[in-house]
Amino acid sequence: MSGFSTPAILLRRINHGDHDLIMTFFSREKGRIPVIAKNAKKSRKRFSGLLEPFTVLELVCRTPRRGGMPVLQEAAMQMPFAGIRGDVLKTLYASYWAELLCGWLEEYRPQQKIYRLMYYALRGMDRSLAAPGEMSIIFQVRFLTLAGIAPRMDGCVVCNAPVDRMGPKGVFLDLEKGGIVCNGCAASETRTRMRIALGTVKQLAWIQENEIRKVQRLRLTAVALREGLLAMEAFVPYHLGRVPRSLRVLQQLRRC
Ligand SMILES: [Zn+2]
Repeated sequence: MSGFSTPAILLRRINHGDHDLIMTFFSREKGRIPVIAKNAKKSRKRFSGLLEPFTVLELVCRTPRRGGMPVLQEAAMQMPFAGIRGDVLKTLYASYWAELLCGWLEEYRPQQKIYRLMYYALRGMDRSLAAPGEMSIIFQVRFLTLAGIAPRMDGCVVCNAPVDRMGPKGVFLDLEKGGIVCNGCAASETRTRMRIALGTVKQLAWIQENEIRKVQRLRLTAVALREGLLAMEAFVPYHLGRVPRSLRVLQQLRRC
């Protein structure tokens, strides 16, 4: 019998027939993988309380000889992150990150740095190391950096003017051009551009350059928190090519 074991974060779970669950895991060793848990709904004892969203599990899977989805044999809890599922706002942020990863990760392609990012972002939110909005800015900025699609923050993407010489009110984030644009280059109107404070750009740039373990105790200013969320929640869907459903729900809830 062939198979594998790996730590993995549960991203998505759907019912399959009357008895089985099909799950999408972000595994440390294999990247995104689909896993079926047979009789998981019928025999609740077997995986009791383990197969919950955002939990980190040590999986043991069997690979069917004729191909097809790996079958879950055993699961052991590594991190329950119950503090996330007990809080609506935290659950929505984590759902957004999970949906983003489900769409972006390729099956069976390991992404260990992004795995670590997701792990520490969930851990930080579970333990309230930062406010959920701050943690989400950090997650998105670091994700974009590790995925190789980070916005340019150190200078104008059109004329290369360094950010420090742009003046306090003359900075824009241009989604289409993929970075900040100076006042002079932002003359024409476009719907994919937003004004952003120099202070916000500097705080986002600092997050870009440093690992999550260092930045998760950062306290953003109120302006950077508001603008950073707006900027990232526009930039990420623009470059993924779609708006995750859970992000719409999250934004609706925040408006209430
Ligand atoms: Zn410029």
